[in-house]
Amino acid sequence: KRTEVVNGNMLIRDGVVDYIGRSSADLNVEKCRTLDLRGYAVFPGFINTHHHLYQTLTRAVPGAQNSGLFDWLRTLYPIWGKMNGEAIYISALVGMAELLLSGCTSSSDHLYMYPNDATLDDSIRAAKDIGIRFHPTRGSMSLGESDGGLPPDGLVEDEKDILDDCQRLIESYHNAEVGSMLQIGLAPCSPFSVSSKLMEETADMARSYGVRMHTHLAETRDEEEYCVERFGKRPLEYVMELGWNADDVWLAHMVHCCNKDMKALATNGIAVTHCPTSNMRLASGISPIMKMLKLGVDVGLGVDGSASNDGGHILGEARQAMLLARLEASLNQSGQSASETDSYFSARQALELGTRGGAAALGRKDIGQLELGKCGDFFAINMNKLQYAGALHDPVAAILMCASNNVDVVVVNGNIVVEGGRLLTIDLGPTIERHNEISIGMVA
Ligand code: ZN
Repeated sequence: KRTEVVNGNMLIRDGVVDYIGRSSADLNVEKCRTLDLRGYAVFPGFINTHHHLYQTLTRAVPGAQNSGLFDWLRTLYPIWGKMNGEAIYISALVGMAELLLSGCTSSSDHLYMYPNDATLDDSIRAAKDIGIRFHPTRGSMSLGESDGGLPPDGLVEDEKDILDDCQRLIESYHNAEVGSMLQIGLAPCSPFSVSSKLMEETADMARSYGVRMHTHLAETRDEEEYCVERFGKRPLEYVMELGWNADDVWLAHMVHCCNKDMKALATNGIAVTHCPTSNMRLASGISPIMKMLKLGVDVGLGVDGSASNDGGHILGEARQAMLLARLEASLNQSGQSASETDSYFSARQALELGTRGGAAALGRKDIGQLELGKCGDFFAINMNKLQYAGALHDPVAAILMCASNNVDVVVVNGNIVVEGGRLLTIDLGPTIERHNEISIGMVA
C-alpha cells in the first residue's frame, strides 16, 4: 500500500518478510541475526532490468566516447570479440558489485555475443558467487554485415546453435518458483542484428517453456529508419507481427515511441525498460515514460551499459530518471504552464520505477516491495552522511534528490551481502585488478 513506516522493525524468516511494523514485542528473534539500523532508511531492493555486464570491460573507450549507437557499436564490436569465459565471469562480478553497492538486489543481464569460450554459464556462476538475484538472458546475433546486419560476420552465430543453447540454458538453470534466485530469458539483440525468423523461433521457444522475452527496441532514429527501409514497418509493429506481442515481453529503451506505439504496449501488456543515462550518453533521445505510465504501461529501470553509461549505479539511475522526466515535461510544454503532477516526476515515482516497475518487467510478484510474504530483499542507507545533511525531513525523497551515494547495507533473500558499505561475498580488490588487466589487454 506504499506505506512508509517510521521507527519500524522488520523480520525476515527463511528469506521471506515475516513482519513489518512498529512493534517488536511479539518477535521471536533469538535465533536471528539482528541489524541495528537506527538512523538508517530502509527500502525494497532495486531491480535492474537491462544491462550488459561484460561492457564494464570497455568503459570510456577512446573512439566510442562521442558517437551515436551505430558508430559506437562498430567501434566496440571488434574489441568485445576478444572476450573469453574468464572475461565474462570477472566483468559480471564487477558489474554486479557495482549494482549491489548501489542498492540493487535483482538484476537482469543481456549477453548477446559468445566469442572464444564464453558462455552464459560464466555470468550465472558470478551471480551465485556474489549473491545477487539474477535474470540472465541468452542474447543472440545472427545477421552479419554481409547479410545486411550491423555486426561483423565473425561475431554472429548460426541460428540453430543459438536455439540449441537457449534450450540447454533453460533446462539447466531456469527456476520458476516463488523466491527464485535464477530465471533465464531469451533475448535476440535487436532488429538490425538478428533475422525475422530467429525473432519468431525465439518467441515460440520462450512460450513453450514459459520464460520471458527481451530485446532492444526503438532506441534510435537510425534503427527506426533501418526498420522502415528493410521491413516497411516501424520497430514495434515489426516485432509484434513476429509474436512479440504479449505480457511475457519486455523491451529496452522505446525512446522513439509514438502514441500508437504506447497504446499498443498498454493494450498488450508489453513492459518497457527505461535507460535514461544510456539514452543521454548516446544522444538517442528521451523515452516518454510519463505518458506511458499514464496509459498503464509497466516501466522498469535499467542502467544499460556499462559502455554507454558508463556505470552501473542503480540509485544514480533512478535519480537520472527523475530529472530527465522533468526535462522532458518542460520541453513538451514549450512555454505553456502545466499542472504540477504533469511536470514533476517525483522521487517516489522514480523509486517505484526501480522497484515495482522492475518487478513487473521481469514478471515477478514476489519482489519489488517490502510486504509480508515477499522476498527479503532490501537496502539501507545511513542518513547521517554528509550528502544528506539538511535533508532528514524526508529521507525517502532525500536519497534521490541528494547526490547519489553507495548504500550501507544490502540483504538479498535474507542473506547479508553488503554491511558497513562493504561487499561481504567476494574480495573486490583482486577482482578489480584482474578486470583491469583483461580490459587493457582487450582495448590496447
Ligand atoms: Zn542495451
